[in-house]
Amino acid sequence: MPTIDALSQRLDDYLDPMQIQQVRRSYFYAEQAHDGQKRKSGEPYVTHPLAAANILAELRMDHQSLMAAMLHDVIEDTEINYEGIESQFGKSVADIVDGVSKLTHLEFETKAEAQASNFQKMVLAMAEDIRVILVKLADRLHNMRTLGAMPPHKQRRIARETLDIYAPIAARLGMRDVQVELEDLAFQAHFPMRAKHIRRAVVQARGQRKDVISSIQETIEKRLQKEGLNGQVSGREKHLYSIYSKMKAQRKSFSEIMDVFAFRVVVDSVDDCYRTLGAVHNLYKPVHGRFKDYIAIPKANGYQSLHTDLFGARDITIEVQIRTHEMDAVASQGIAEHSHYKNDDEEDRSESALGSYKRARKWVQGLLEMHQSAGNSMEFIDSVKTDLFPDEVYVFTPLGKIMELPSGATAVDFAYAVHTDVGNSCVSCRINRRLAPLSQPLENGQTVEIITTPSAQPNMAWLNFVVTGKARTAIRHYLKNQQRHESVELGQRLLNQFLANYGATLNDIDPFKLRELLQEAELNSLEDLLEDIGLGNRMAYVVARRLRPDEDMEKTEDQDRLSRQKPLSIKGTEGMVLHYAKCCLPIPGDKIIGHISTGRGLVIHQTECRNIGYLRDDPEKCIYLEWSDNQDEEFSVNLSTEVESHRGIIAELATTASSVGADVVSIDISEHEGQLAHVHMEVTVEDRIHLARVMKKLRRLKSVNRITRD
Ligand code: MN
Repeated sequence: MPTIDALSQRLDDYLDPMQIQQVRRSYFYAEQAHDGQKRKSGEPYVTHPLAAANILAELRMDHQSLMAAMLHDVIEDTEINYEGIESQFGKSVADIVDGVSKLTHLEFETKAEAQASNFQKMVLAMAEDIRVILVKLADRLHNMRTLGAMPPHKQRRIARETLDIYAPIAARLGMRDVQVELEDLAFQAHFPMRAKHIRRAVVQARGQRKDVISSIQETIEKRLQKEGLNGQVSGREKHLYSIYSKMKAQRKSFSEIMDVFAFRVVVDSVDDCYRTLGAVHNLYKPVHGRFKDYIAIPKANGYQSLHTDLFGARDITIEVQIRTHEMDAVASQGIAEHSHYKNDDEEDRSESALGSYKRARKWVQGLLEMHQSAGNSMEFIDSVKTDLFPDEVYVFTPLGKIMELPSGATAVDFAYAVHTDVGNSCVSCRINRRLAPLSQPLENGQTVEIITTPSAQPNMAWLNFVVTGKARTAIRHYLKNQQRHESVELGQRLLNQFLANYGATLNDIDPFKLRELLQEAELNSLEDLLEDIGLGNRMAYVVARRLRPDEDMEKTEDQDRLSRQKPLSIKGTEGMVLHYAKCCLPIPGDKIIGHISTGRGLVIHQTECRNIGYLRDDPEKCIYLEWSDNQDEEFSVNLSTEVESHRGIIAELATTASSVGADVVSIDISEHEGQLAHVHMEVTVEDRIHLARVMKKLRRLKSVNRITRD
């Protein structure tokens, strides 16, 4: 049975005595904290954290990771809390322990809904210190090694979770040894029968394979000797779970998989890697398209190697990986190997120093420099984490489903990621149960709830802050459709308005005339024509004249048409094809006129507005309008007041206005003339009657001399 003394001895290789002393102290602390607790196997509980620490010691992790491993179940399973650990062992260790405990909770709360691949990334992204993950992996690895003590249904659940989440995380961090062990243990626990069959088949095949392997190995070794290359050649056997996955994913038979023989050649320098590649390509014909240069372009987790497939005798395939000793260590321990990854032969490389090569190398180089200059594995490890997942955030739906979004994404992006309909009808959001602005960038681990109403519409302003293509496209698409819909509707009303002069409506028009007009205008349909009218690109007046019934041709005089014309009624909610002129800000009750503005639709002015004066009687440009009875919007008006200035005047004006239900949008003092000041206010009202009430109330204030609507 492993003991703390045995571990201390092992640590002597790479930690200083003070650090070893701290690790020992954490062991005794854990032993006491877990006193009386037993594992399912009957052993004292402390054997588990000790074993986890041993696993990390094999990876030569720093003393803080080992201490955290010793203490990793203390917060969870004993009376001791974060502060207790912090005061004894410092903040870093307490933070790691705390992080591990949090991950454990996350697991239980969300596993039902979690989609595994996002969950893996989320776990990684959430841990502020990647040592949290390494401790968690050591914890899980020891639990998997001792899984037999658990009841079968628990074994299956833990095995599934290991395959879905923890083995892929190990893979992502390049920790191949941990990954392989987790996978095989979990595979055997989850699919005991399948594992047994494959193992038996492997053992049987091994006999025949042995000869082939040693003959190929010898051939390669001889060739390397001849070339003066010093390389260690070894045959690799695929692990059970990878055979199973290949059979399943690639629908290959067991014997097809077994016809592949894999070798690894470990050499002294990068230069030797490429020379070895040349040697094996001379020996066996390479399979086209299977060569990969992960030395020039390392994987994101730092993995480097040359991969090539070769045609062997009798239809077998030979897979070869070629790398240096350092690369080999990184390949098996990944991120945990950073402490002894050396890179002496930086200059010793073939001539393939291309742009992409340099960029990719820079990442690994950057890691090294950071590690050397930081001298502190924590900073180093943090930067690795941000390099692995620089651009993603992971957030939860209220049901615990995980969504992956690019960093900077907002609740609107989230809403569209859930479903286009959710995005289109979203009005506000709760982040971690609190109302939050839709534009606020999301952070890892937040729970986001979108509040929708059926009548809501996407807002043009969202385009300023959404970051996902999906949201952007959906908003644009919606607005475009909406504009078309609104333009067609307005166009139809405008056209009917003018057709009424000839005693006709759209339903009465002659289809031949319509077709002729569409052809001439190069439009496909009546809808297109109406849209064009609604947008102000085509004049309803002219179109109506073209389409009018023949028999009415003589009856109507253009000159008196406007006077006889019944005004078009508008509700104010027509949306994107209806605008209120900023110059005169009309409100219900005002006499209004619509100016048909090319490309924009109708712009509504007060009839008296100076800006519209010269166009007023032009039937091609203007149309008389009236307000429909039921207005449900608020309208802005500008008020100008002359006041006797005193302290608090602004507040007085604002509270008075809102006391009669007018919202004050803005208020400012524009000029002073001694005691007199001009105050400009923008308020929202329902209509003229409401406005009159507001103005009356304001006028009654003692300090107000004069008030006018602008
Ligand atoms: Mn544990």
